[in-house]
Amino acid sequence: MIIKTSPDEIENFLTDAANVKGYCDAVYFPESESEVIEAVKLAERDHLSLTVSGNGTGLTGGRVPKGGIVLSTERLNNIKEISKEGRYAIVEPGVILKDFQETVESKGLFYPPDPTERNCFIGATVATNSSGAKTFKYGPTRNYVIGLNVVLADGELLRLERGKCKANGYVISLQSEGGKQYSFEIPDYKMPQTKHAAGYYCHKDMDAIDLFIGSEGTLGIITEIKVKLLDLPENILSAVVFFENEEDGLNFIEEARNLSYEARLNGANNEIDARGLEYFDENSLHMLREDYPQIPQGAKSGVWFEQEINDSNEEDIFTKWLELVAKFNANEETAWFASNNADREKFKDFRHSISWKISEFIARRNITKVGTDIAVPDDKFRDFLKEMVQSVKKENLDYVVYGHFGNSHAHLNMLPKDQIEFVAAKKLYMQICKRAVELSGTISAEHGIGKLKKEYLHMMFGEENIKKMAKLKSSLDPKHIFGIGNIFDEKYL
Ligand SMILES: Cc1cc2nc3c(=O)[nH]c(=O)nc-3n(C[C@H](O)[C@H](O)[C@H](O)COP(=O)(O)OP(=O)(O)OC[C@H]3O[C@@H](n4cnc5c(N)ncnc54)[C@H](O)[C@@H]3O)c2cc1C
Repeated sequence: MIIKTSPDEIENFLTDAANVKGYCDAVYFPESESEVIEAVKLAERDHLSLTVSGNGTGLTGGRVPKGGIVLSTERLNNIKEISKEGRYAIVEPGVILKDFQETVESKGLFYPPDPTERNCFIGATVATNSSGAKTFKYGPTRNYVIGLNVVLADGELLRLERGKCKANGYVISLQSEGGKQYSFEIPDYKMPQTKHAAGYYCHKDMDAIDLFIGSEGTLGIITEIKVKLLDLPENILSAVVFFENEEDGLNFIEEARNLSYEARLNGANNEIDARGLEYFDENSLHMLREDYPQIPQGAKSGVWFEQEINDSNEEDIFTKWLELVAKFNANEETAWFASNNADREKFKDFRHSISWKISEFIARRNITKVGTDIAVPDDKFRDFLKEMVQSVKKENLDYVVYGHFGNSHAHLNMLPKDQIEFVAAKKLYMQICKRAVELSGTISAEHGIGKLKKEYLHMMFGEENIKKMAKLKSSLDPKHIFGIGNIFDEKYL
């Protein structure tokens, strides 16, 4: 196993896209599951903490170490099997999501989870239960994971298959490959009904595999993943539409969302049924105009949408979207419609650009990200959004709002100009999170908690539940080796 210790070689592993900074003694690069086990046993023997690293695109500092060693998954990068008949694939965690998706698509298959940044590793998407634009139709990564290999902190290997190991109430019992038994309690808190990725996923009689999905490197190292695949849709209608005011853009999304729910309920295949509904506010469009001068001047909001189509319903569906565009006063002439795959990719890049611009901004200012990842129930979303934006304006902070509005999930990024504004932004961030929780929402719908959002998780679930999460971790990792500082503070362990 390659082990790197020189500062210039390990430097890249000491931060992530949220600009959180860390330190460590060494980075290990295992090339097989058995080398992962070897690394874990070394860490256990030498009482070293071990932080698992994907590709560092995380937005919460989850892969950033606070001492000890980093275990990079970049050499565990084989696609082991793709079964067209069985509609599944078996992959190692270091496979780049974009490469995996392109490979399955070349075989006429489809893997829906699509965080906007597709240079992430598939193992990390499982560890954070990532979502993306298509989550509006297809749900998060969790919905596609049907098997996992997980190396535990004592070096034992768990093989988990969906449906094979259920909790008994709030108690999970597991057996490792080596025959070791584990039995532990899971917290009995209630999770929000929105899109949600904050803290351990726990509920009565749950499938044990779900506990490890979204556990952010704190319970075990994911070394192999079996995912469910779907048939590749025949064709996709993809468009970016601009509106002359904010309300029209938001109303457009709301109506498209309701129509999509209705179509799914009725099993209709020639109605509006978006697979993604993404919003950009005026400030986002302003920021993007530098790279996309074709964004119409005067546009106050924009929406990117996609729907799967085929030869038989293409015309009907296109007409229905055009009617909706007209209904909410968007100019068909200034809208962008993709006529081929290359155009569709350009629209994806457009969506991606805004997220990257924020990451670049915070890296330039050398601050950590102050961006919400909040989702609230659909019926609360509009009022919540209005309140959130007003509060940022009141503080005179620069900001942009964009995100997965189909899922009532907004990324409001505050852009502080100096340390004073940064402090004000952090204070406001807590208030916004409190409001989201009051409305039965979540403080993290997709990025997870990592090291940046622990205080908000604490506020959301309360001290008692944080202690229950820590107790659960201690049952599987009694020496506190994995992902120290992620999800909750070390003091709870
Ligand atoms: C521009 C941009 C846009 C983004 N858009 C989205 C989005 O739309 N939706 C979304 O969900 N996220 C988004 N993200 C966040 C990020 O891409 C995802 O969280 C992604 O899953 C992280 O992958 P990574 O390989 O970079 O992981 P890293 O940042 O390296 O690690 C993330 C976490 O996973 C843990 N981990 C990694 N591998 C393993 C493993 N094998 N076993 C156990 N734990 C492991 C790490 O310890 C860490 O806690 C975005 C990020 C950027 C920069």
